[in-house]
Amino acid sequence: MNPLKLTDEISQLRGIGAARKQALNRANVQTIADLISYFPRRHLDRRTIGKISELKEGQEVTLVGKVQAFGMKRGKRRAFFQMILNDETGFLNCTWFNGIRWIQSQFKVGDEIAVFGKVDYYGGWTITHPEFDKLENENSQRKTGRIIPLYPSSMPLKKVGLNSAGFSRVIEEAIERSLKNIEENLPEPVLKSHQLISRKVAFQQIHFPQTEEELDRAKFRFKFEELFFMQMLLAMRKQEVFKIQGNSYTERGKFCDALFQNLSFSLTSAQISVLREIRTDLKNPNAMHRLLQGDVGSGKTIVALIAASIPIGYGKQAAFMAPTEVLATQHFRKLQNLCEIAGIQSALLVSDLPKKEKDATNEKIKNGEIQLVFGTHALIQKTVEFADLGFVVIDEQHRFGVLQRGELMKKGKTPPDTLVMTATPIPRTMAMTTYGDLDISIIDELPSGRIPIITKKVSIAKLPKVMDFIRQKVGEGRQVYVVYPLIEESEKMDLEAAEKGYEKLRKFFPEFEVALLHGRMKRNEKDEVMTAFAEGKSQILVSTTVIEVGVDVQNATIMMIENAERFGLTQLHQLRGRVGRGDEQSYCVLVERKSSELSWQRLAVIVGTTDGFKIAEEDLKLRGPGELFGTRQHGLPELKIADLMNDQNILRQARKSAFELVENDPKLQDKSNKNLRNHFIENYRSQLAISKIG
Ligand code: ADP
Ligand code: MG
Repeated sequence: MNPLKLTDEISQLRGIGAARKQALNRANVQTIADLISYFPRRHLDRRTIGKISELKEGQEVTLVGKVQAFGMKRGKRRAFFQMILNDETGFLNCTWFNGIRWIQSQFKVGDEIAVFGKVDYYGGWTITHPEFDKLENENSQRKTGRIIPLYPSSMPLKKVGLNSAGFSRVIEEAIERSLKNIEENLPEPVLKSHQLISRKVAFQQIHFPQTEEELDRAKFRFKFEELFFMQMLLAMRKQEVFKIQGNSYTERGKFCDALFQNLSFSLTSAQISVLREIRTDLKNPNAMHRLLQGDVGSGKTIVALIAASIPIGYGKQAAFMAPTEVLATQHFRKLQNLCEIAGIQSALLVSDLPKKEKDATNEKIKNGEIQLVFGTHALIQKTVEFADLGFVVIDEQHRFGVLQRGELMKKGKTPPDTLVMTATPIPRTMAMTTYGDLDISIIDELPSGRIPIITKKVSIAKLPKVMDFIRQKVGEGRQVYVVYPLIEESEKMDLEAAEKGYEKLRKFFPEFEVALLHGRMKRNEKDEVMTAFAEGKSQILVSTTVIEVGVDVQNATIMMIENAERFGLTQLHQLRGRVGRGDEQSYCVLVERKSSELSWQRLAVIVGTTDGFKIAEEDLKLRGPGELFGTRQHGLPELKIADLMNDQNILRQARKSAFELVENDPKLQDKSNKNLRNHFIENYRSQLAISKIG
């Protein structure tokens, strides 16, 4: 038989006629390369096949046996199809309620079939709607050894004989005839340092492994390859985005020195090392684009201020944008003094400032008098013009769209250095994928002396006790947050829940000042409420989720969250982060009103740990990775074999290796990278441009 190229059509194969070609094309398999990259979904190791005589109820198992009999059966409510499998230790009923017409045509008495599924006992061992594969006859089994590849197959594919056995046969032919033309696409040094087997061998062994070890090596090779190219894509994007000429600041400058001299605490070593990373970026003439991730209360804000003071020392301006007025105002109030002492002119710009004040501030931003401005979206209005904006901080970045970030950055004459901050922990995997083209700094320690928060989950039955506890603590001078959940459908209901709660608490605690804060209040109303609470004039603050981020009142030591089951895990974590900021023991009470298995598990995660990273990872596990990763939405290639949750180790290796390679040979011009370059261009080039952040 004549050899084939990888780009040849599958119809060149003897085993592929018109019907199969059509079915395969529909499954996105066009070329020989596509076909041999159609990897088994799993392998059947003959040693791990179960025995019917040893089954346990509820067990997930692979069984292999011969078809004993099959036919329609009359059930209580409707008819179903039953096939009886015999593995010489016993009998198994396989039943189908759907797709019967086609299933019927699949079996012949005596066929050897592998089935996979969960077993139940209904007067006999039963699997309902098992996955199944017809195995090869005796002769070819000897050839494939004891590990049998099982391929993903749909009904249309099975209809044209492309069950696992059928796939094995055509793939075997495809590999045999194209083997000579399978080229390596990873450079020699990468293969060597990660002990990867060659691509040629990997194709043979992922389909037809003789041993478990061969299979593992082949899988590793392809997972690595897949992740390596994904990371190369990110590395190339990053290089494009960052090669924008910005400014270079070599000295710390007097403002920065002054800040350091006037800090009332010493920075944590995590803060210091992040500052070191930022300083390196600032020295570099390419614009900085760094994501600073740190748990609530880890002290990101001061890091941002110190960083901003460096360009300010060079005559630049800095802008600090927060998602809510409460937050922007709080940042301003907290840092205003320190700025003044250090000699930095700062101001606040939010939309409902009195017009006169706003105009005056705008004027000073324009003439450069104001060096640092804190604000909300108001900062990106057209009316705001900077004399020379050189540094941008975006707090709680996920609250802003990419476009809004871009708007602020565009106000610089040259691209400003940008620091985006988030308290929402980004799971490691995402940091390496969806955020993989940003530089990332992490503050992974809290300032010392913080006392761990005690978290309790309670049902409504326990509420009276909680109330007693609140009475006692407020009596001792502490303050309390009570938060009501966001009800998706309507902001109004949201408010109603909080208002009702507020009324109840007011009646219940006549001796205390209870305040209400919600998203629909005017800015100055909100401000008043927040300020009164911060000054201790009110003791219990009932609110909708507006206090979610950033609010900092050290005397508040109890966070009670109503309908906690309605919140996302990271949101709960953030809310909890509002307390535990001072030297007093703090508490978080999760009131669970509607309990379910899942909510129980989720709340248990919050009770069990205060580590934001762990919480994010758990959240990911409970929700499943699908919705978070959405690799395609982020313009990343879809993964065929690697799994972002389970292959993090390989991901890390591939990332390091790919980034090194792109750094050493940014245009992939080196002769040793020729095959790599070709493969990249053929498969990934179209995805290169989608990136463009901010
Ligand atoms: P984040 O924005 O990361 O949630 P903040 O920057 O608001 O955290 O810091 C939380 C509190 O901790 C603030 O009151 C801040 O002044 C204080 N803080 C920051 N860094 C330190 C430190 N190294 N030691 C003690 N307190 C600190
Ligand atoms: Mg913050």
